[in-house]
Amino acid sequence: ANQFGMKEALAQLGIKDINEGTSTGLNHFSNGEIFESYSPVDGQLIAKVKTSTAADYEKVMQSATEAFKTFRLMPAPQRGEIVRQFGEKLRKNKDALGKLVSYEMGKSLQEGYGEVQEMIDICDFAVGLSRQLHGLTMHSERPQHRMYEQYHPLGVVGIISAFNFPVAVWAWNTALAWIAGDVCVWKPSEKTPLCGIACQNIIAEVIKENNLPEGISCLINGDYKVGEMMTNDKRVPLISATGSTRMGKIVAQTVAGRLGRSLLELGGNNAIIVTPDADIKMTVIGAVFGAVGTAGQRCTSTRRLIIHESIYDTVKDAVVAAYKQLSIGNPLDENNHVGPLIDTHAVEMYNRALTKVVEQGGKILVEGGVLSGEGYESGCYVKPAIAEADNSFEIVQHETFAPVLYLLKYSGTVENALDVQNGVAQGLSSAIMTNNLREAEHFLSVAGSDCGIANVNIGTSGAEIGGAFGGEKETGGGRESGSDAWKVYMRRQTNTINYGTSLPLAQGIKFDL
Ligand code: NAD
Repeated sequence: ANQFGMKEALAQLGIKDINEGTSTGLNHFSNGEIFESYSPVDGQLIAKVKTSTAADYEKVMQSATEAFKTFRLMPAPQRGEIVRQFGEKLRKNKDALGKLVSYEMGKSLQEGYGEVQEMIDICDFAVGLSRQLHGLTMHSERPQHRMYEQYHPLGVVGIISAFNFPVAVWAWNTALAWIAGDVCVWKPSEKTPLCGIACQNIIAEVIKENNLPEGISCLINGDYKVGEMMTNDKRVPLISATGSTRMGKIVAQTVAGRLGRSLLELGGNNAIIVTPDADIKMTVIGAVFGAVGTAGQRCTSTRRLIIHESIYDTVKDAVVAAYKQLSIGNPLDENNHVGPLIDTHAVEMYNRALTKVVEQGGKILVEGGVLSGEGYESGCYVKPAIAEADNSFEIVQHETFAPVLYLLKYSGTVENALDVQNGVAQGLSSAIMTNNLREAEHFLSVAGSDCGIANVNIGTSGAEIGGAFGGEKETGGGRESGSDAWKVYMRRQTNTINYGTSLPLAQGIKFDL
């Protein structure tokens, strides 16, 4: 696996060569069965990893709960200093970690670096935030009383993440959780375990250099069974889970069953509305990048284009023409636009969607297909496809995590387009392309998009860390990253202090003894 300097990158990140045996990181326990991480880029085995057993999990939890007892006492700005140092280490490892993300997950090298940059950005954001974990003060109805609220850390935060953002999602959670005073236990996707080990190695160094307890950051490996140990565990007050809606429904019910808190970031079915007043050039760039970027494996990928009938043919022809320019191949090669899907199971799902859309009455406009031959040995490279469809099709209602774009036609006003856009179970990202102020404002109004993210003249994918990220309905309702998303990692306490010499009761109640 030494193309593009991968061997050196793995060594820098502390991932042992496959021939040296099983890779493990610092501060994490895994003594279970072995599973393997193959690259979708070239189909090569990168390394073997052991799963965490129930006994390993116990050790991790003991280490985490012990660490919390001291970490919570550290002033928040000092915790911010730890996160600042973590951001510095990420800067030093950006090249190596970006390459590993690209090689293990299959996204383009630029996007791999971009993911690490997001980690750095959230660290910077969290450092500033560590001096701003503020509550409100309010006037008491009682004389010589003061009332205010403060935020305290929660405890152990359990993080379950998806394969498609194998490092950034962890950092979105941890950077905020750490400045909040929480400690974190992470179960990365079983499809990208090495990214997890690499990140853990980086933060473990920072923790060691500062003589802090190891359990501030813990890692467990394996599939859903390992995740279930956390979701069932009362010692974990918050589970932050990113992945499919199917997974989210199970996790939400399990965590609610013990009245724990969950932060859910689940699937999307994102649309761009293209109105008669749209800038066609911008629309094509936004739609094509949104649909084929990361080979359609972003939660915010564009799945549906809802186009007004008056410009339908123009937009259709322009998008179809743009697809002809796409080069598909090794994502570490900057000349390629589209890399592989994560594995052959994802390829099956892609094929299934293309068969179904035709069965359900759709028409293929850009043919799909699985690529084979030199450079495509992994069997994970597919052609981005476009189909004309109807929003009512079962397959259109479903999130297929692959580069399949559905074109839908609307007539009349933007309200009709919004009915189509909102007429799905998911509610993550949405966009409108228009230069018409009335349409744009209507789209953003209470009667407009029902999604957590609503953009004007921007595509659906590529959010900034400064805003709160997440979606409604079956996307799960959670918010991560910027704005006041930090509050979910803390518990709010309302404090009332009586500095007088009598004890008046609230609501004017008299209780004389
Ligand atoms: P997935 O649901 O298959 O797996 C996600 C994680 O959940 C993995 O770590 C997996 O091991 C774990 N898991 C699965 N079942 C579990 C259970 N019962 N208990 C505990 N843990 C369990 O998802 P995936 O294929 O890795 O990722 C793709 C999906 O993630 C897409 O639907 C995508 O839209 C979504 N996603 C959403 C966001 C967001 O922010 N909304 C971001 C990235 C990905």
